[in-house]
This record gives sequence, C-alpha cells and structure tokens, in this order.
Amino acid sequence: MFNSILMPIDLQDTHLAMKAIKIAIDEARKHDAEIHVLTVMPGFGMPMVSTFFTDNKTMKDAMKTVAKELKKCIASNFPKDIKTHPHITEGNPAERILYQAEKLSIDLIIIPSHAQSLGQVFLGSCATKVVEHARCSVMVVKG
Ligand code: ADP
Repeated sequence: MFNSILMPIDLQDTHLAMKAIKIAIDEARKHDAEIHVLTVMPGFGMPMVSTFFTDNKTMKDAMKTVAKELKKCIASNFPKDIKTHPHITEGNPAERILYQAEKLSIDLIIIPSHAQSLGQVFLGSCATKVVEHARCSVMVVKG
C-alpha cells in the first residue's frame, strides 16, 4: 500500500520521464496516493558555481523560472484527478531526492533508469544512488 509517491523529474529531459509518469499515475490511482514531483537544480552550492552567483536575486530568479517550468510540466502531464505537489530544491540531485523522500514520508519513489539515453549503462548515476540508499521502495522505470 503506497500513500505517498515521489517522482523526481529532470526538467532537461522530460522525454524519458513520460513512461515513468504514466506508471506513477496508475499507481496513484490504484492506491489513492498523492504524487510529489521533485526537480533539483544542481550546482548553486558548489564553490566553483556559487562564485558566479554572488547575489541572491539571480538564484531566486532561476528558482522561479524552474518553478514555472515544473508547474507547466505537471499541468500538461498529470490529470486533474491526481493530487500532485511540486517541489523545487537545489543541490546534488540524488542527495536531495533521498532527503525529500525522508522529509515527505514517501513510501514509493518512481524513477526513470536514465536522464539521457546512454544505451548500455544499466542505471544512471542519480538513479543508482537513489536505489542504493533509499529507505523506502524504489521502482526503476527502464526506457
Ligand atoms: P544519467 O546518468 O543518464 O543522466 P540519472 O541517474 O542522472 O541518469 O537520471 C535518472 C533519473 O534521475 C532522471 O530521469 C530523474 O528522474 C532523476 N534525476 C536526475 N537528475 C535530476 C534532477 N536534477 N532533478 C530531479 N530528478 C533528477
């Protein structure tokens, strides 16, 4: 029984996420669950990157743009009868996904195996860390 599903989405590659989104919708309907859709902006906290973003405003503007994109993505891909919650955060994608899974008491993470179609590699780097370290169930969706 799953009440709370986490669906991490890399907004730079929603194409490969489509199959995972369909499965998340099915699971949500089956279990009457809510879907938390999370996108992580990588990098602002990294010393090399943060030197280019010395003012808070640039970072806030970037967050706002990403928030709009995420809402658009949810509006066009998730039907209205599914309860969705958008989340935007910044940092290392795998670490943030694992952190949010704990914070939101997620009981199922649904994650595509890759962000980009790399062919032979079984699992992408972020998906690998999530599968290895998540304390809840993880469904890996292969492209
Ligand atoms: P690859 O190594 O091919 O880029 P990843 O493991 O990074 O593959 O991506 C697999 C999945 O992990 C993505 O489809 C997405 O669900 C999640 N993911 C990766 N980066 C992010 C991100 N910045 N924000 C949210 N989810 C992400």
